[in-house]
Amino acid sequence: MDNIFDFTKISDACVKCGKCKPVCTIFSINQDEATSPRGFIDLLGAYKEGKLELDKNTKNIFESCFLCTNCVEVCPNSLPTDMIIEQVRNDIRKKFGLAWYKKSFFFLLKHRKTMDILAKFGWVFQTCALSLDHKKQSALPRFSLPIIKKNRALPFSAKQSFLKKYPENIKAKIQNKDTKKVAIFIGCMSNYAYTSTGDALVKILKTLDIDIFIPKKQACCGAPAYFTGDFKIVDYLIKKNIEYFETWIDDVDAIITAEATCSAMINTDWEHYLHDQKSWGLRAKKIASKVFLASKFLQEQTNLEEILKSKNKIFDEKITYHDPCHAKKMQGVWAEPRKLLSANYKLVEMSDSNRCCGFGGITMQSNNYHLAKKAGIPKAKMIQETKTQIVSAECSACRMQITNALHLEGSDIIFKNPIELIAKAL
Ligand code: SF4
Ligand code: SF4
Repeated sequence: MDNIFDFTKISDACVKCGKCKPVCTIFSINQDEATSPRGFIDLLGAYKEGKLELDKNTKNIFESCFLCTNCVEVCPNSLPTDMIIEQVRNDIRKKFGLAWYKKSFFFLLKHRKTMDILAKFGWVFQTCALSLDHKKQSALPRFSLPIIKKNRALPFSAKQSFLKKYPENIKAKIQNKDTKKVAIFIGCMSNYAYTSTGDALVKILKTLDIDIFIPKKQACCGAPAYFTGDFKIVDYLIKKNIEYFETWIDDVDAIITAEATCSAMINTDWEHYLHDQKSWGLRAKKIASKVFLASKFLQEQTNLEEILKSKNKIFDEKITYHDPCHAKKMQGVWAEPRKLLSANYKLVEMSDSNRCCGFGGITMQSNNYHLAKKAGIPKAKMIQETKTQIVSAECSACRMQITNALHLEGSDIIFKNPIELIAKAL
């Protein structure tokens, strides 16, 4: 597949103003021009013109970007640094291949039934390798493994996946012409690990008397493979989902997900990926128009905020809210979760809710874990400075990364998806 953008044109459009450098997550760690947005753009331009070879050094450079989109937000020309890096990662994958554990993980994303069996198996045997903390919904490895070091907080398998737990249809009690019907896209992490997020979403939709549809054959949105450059898997997952969604899309008012990365992937990146496959691109566009981050849909298209306010209840726990890169920067969602949460919680803003937590994708969490750690610690520190008991963000990748960063800082602050906190108030 051809690259999505004209790298040379983008490189020429960079006016070298440097506005992107202070906000760049990797530049804040490395302080090196080569790993800054304008450095990436320069190198990518040279690479496309055949003046730069993809070797181990350039591979490491292009794999050090967190894809946080901070640079795009401040760039006067909105240059899509993150997206051209996503494209070059496909070339890297073609030239260098993928590590065995990435291949295995993507195989599982492609084969949901095998993943279901493995998750169940994981639930039975995980306590042999992990020490579980149910309050924090995280686990510590009992010993170091090749990719996972001992002092690292990880998610663990739930007893039953979200998709197995609920029936496909949960009907609203009152049926009339105004009854809405909403499909839930759960996302892999909330399906297998953070299942309390899906439970909370079902509870909220039941309270709102909305027909719930849980499409059982939904596959991974493709985001983990897209950010790693495995476009073969991305192609397979996107098309499998499109063909399946089309069998019911006209029957629902919306598809909602409490996962910023999944919603951004489906409502924006599917189209980017399919830019040179016109008919598939149009099919993706139709689906995208119905895909919403849960807080946005609930705040704008239901009376949930009113219901929450009518409870006249403010919890003792204070909350601080982190803005996932894929929610605020990619989808403009930041006010909606705050409006819903502030009905029943005291919100304390951290010094920079926009600062990327440092999750960065699979490569960042494996080969480049040392960088993810360096990006996570400042985020954990600013969360601690708020003196709150809970940090919230509508994204399970942020949840995994922030929970670990707080653990490394010895903090007792727990992480909750805003949907869980909202459901608690009902
Ligand atoms: S996406 Fe983030 S880490 Fe990558 S160049 Fe832009 S600001 Fe830096
Ligand atoms: S902000 Fe945009 S134009 Fe300015 S240096 Fe960065 S990438 Fe180039």
